[in-house]
Amino acid sequence: MADTAADDFLADQAFMRLALDQAHNAWLLGEVPVGAVIVRGGQVIATGYNRPIGENDPTAHAEIVALRQAAALLGNYRLPDCTLYVTLEPCAMCAMALLHARFARVVFGAFDPKTGAAGSVIDLFADPRLNHHCAVTGGVEQAACAALLQDFFRQRRREQKSALAAAAGAGLVGIEVIELDAMPPCEPRP
Ligand SMILES: [Zn+2]
Repeated sequence: MADTAADDFLADQAFMRLALDQAHNAWLLGEVPVGAVIVRGGQVIATGYNRPIGENDPTAHAEIVALRQAAALLGNYRLPDCTLYVTLEPCAMCAMALLHARFARVVFGAFDPKTGAAGSVIDLFADPRLNHHCAVTGGVEQAACAALLQDFFRQRRREQKSALAAAAGAGLVGIEVIELDAMPPCEPRP
């Protein structure tokens, strides 16, 4: 008999790696590296990566980008037989969008202790006051998903430091320093 639990685990890992590829696309464009894929019947039907800066759209999180693509493809605003894989725990906006779309299941990689809405700060997916619930699995490929974010912010801090040093060297004083919207490192959970 096939070990379905092990098969599911391997499938989750494989789809999360595809979501990680999407996250790399975000990094290449200077966006916080978060990626998502939507799977239906074992097939990837939509992909998305974080791009609020490039799109001038604060809602352009990876999950929203992917779910808009999937809904358009299927010609349906509800996606009840789909699973969304995303490299970072969804925020409240994305969690509610996924609940509105009636996703069957959401799988995420790194936990987000600052804005995670799948258990870290709040758990909208399991809130008994909301009329739709959705199966959630967190921590899939967690180390790789968290490392990507940590590397990105480390590089940004380095770049900011050298820009400041260059400005100081050029005698530019009093330039405005814009604080990075620093995401906390996503510490792996025990
Ligand atoms: Zn979000």
